[in-house]
Amino acid sequence: MHELSIAASIVDAVTESAAAYPGARVKEVRLRLGSLASVVEDSLQFCWGITVEGTPLEGARLVVKILPVIVHCASCRQDGELASLQSFRCPHCGEPCSDLRQGRELEIEAIEIDEIDEVEEAV
Ligand SMILES: [Zn+2]
Repeated sequence: MHELSIAASIVDAVTESAAAYPGARVKEVRLRLGSLASVVEDSLQFCWGITVEGTPLEGARLVVKILPVIVHCASCRQDGELASLQSFRCPHCGEPCSDLRQGRELEIEAIEIDEIDEVEEAV
């Protein structure tokens, strides 16, 4: 399952960034995911749950933002959002186009960190 290796590389990258804040807990990781990145969000969420277990990221939420596919049309010189992944045609003039401007992203947009290490006290 390739979502598992993707989850693992996100955990690695976030762990590295979070190392700059000792004692802080990562609450949330926000990911930008293009519709063409061939990643299934449900599988990624599932793999995320497995991967963070036992790491400093345990309990952190993965928030995935799905980005639509944007193409640039050479005929009418406009960018447009692809209506369907089945046909790569300009949404404005209907000409076939393959000049992708967005849709393959797989990148960490933001990491939310709890700076204060909260300690739960049993009363
Ligand atoms: Zn066009």
